[in-house]
Amino acid sequence: MKKYTHAWLAFMAIKRLQHADIPDANKEDAASLVKWFQDYRDFVIEGAWYPDDVFKDMSTSHIIKYTPDPSDREQPFKKLPRTMKAYSLGQKSPLYKKPFIIEGGNCADRCESISHSIVDNFKMLRIEERGCPITTTNNHIAMRFFILSHYIADCHMPLHCDSRPFSSGTNLHGLIESEWDKQIRKSYALDTPNNRFFYDPEGYPLKTKPTPLVLAVEEDAVSREYLHPWGTGNGNTWDYISAVSEYSYLMAYRLIPPEMNEQTSHKDYKASEAYSHLEEYSRYIFADSIDSIARVWLHVWSRYRSWAKGR
Ligand SMILES: [Zn+2]
Repeated sequence: MKKYTHAWLAFMAIKRLQHADIPDANKEDAASLVKWFQDYRDFVIEGAWYPDDVFKDMSTSHIIKYTPDPSDREQPFKKLPRTMKAYSLGQKSPLYKKPFIIEGGNCADRCESISHSIVDNFKMLRIEERGCPITTTNNHIAMRFFILSHYIADCHMPLHCDSRPFSSGTNLHGLIESEWDKQIRKSYALDTPNNRFFYDPEGYPLKTKPTPLVLAVEEDAVSREYLHPWGTGNGNTWDYISAVSEYSYLMAYRLIPPEMNEQTSHKDYKASEAYSHLEEYSRYIFADSIDSIARVWLHVWSRYRSWAKGR
């Protein structure tokens, strides 16, 4: 995914935590996270783009690459919260429960380690004296949140979980991501010199000419039921992102069917049945990404808050 898409998804995750129907047990934590976030919103574009712009660990931490395995061994798939679209669609995929091989990538490890570092940083911030030379800052922690959102969203990009080389040849991967970013840039008012969005009265990116896709995703972000648990069998960010990657892999074969390859031209792809569903699949990919960013962020925030309460 590209720069503005990443930043937009992070904003929408906060909007979701503010406006979706959050269960009573998580309401207070969600409200305090939304409030905390407002002070750092000018740096979302910058922070959420560090992984591509500065770290450049695309071939390792932005991916988990799957290949179907022709053997007939039994393959269990992980579970996700039932509201995740990739989960319900994935269970209908011909590759569901079929064996796979993970060729590489450590996106789930990256998300787990950043989640930990955020909680650790909050704890240090809380216990260190003001002025201590090695203490962290809220600015630093906010930046970690935005970086984390990048890796979570990337795991939802199906082609990041598919070992077929769609970034080479005609680069269908790049084509899809450019079309997404174009829609975001068209839909919102950008304060380009300051590398941020202009805001609406609530502090979210100001819509100018929103596309139907953007409107549908914004609607889903605030209306989709919020389920806080990770999904049966998952106990932390690593488990959860690993599960996301399995269904993202299944989604990749909807996005680009098996008969296509890295030589398929843009013209042929655009004339295909799969492309006619791209808008619909994009909606699911974005809405699931927002749901996941909100879920992981709130888990991290709540972990710190319950530690702080117990002190
Ligand atoms: Zn990336």
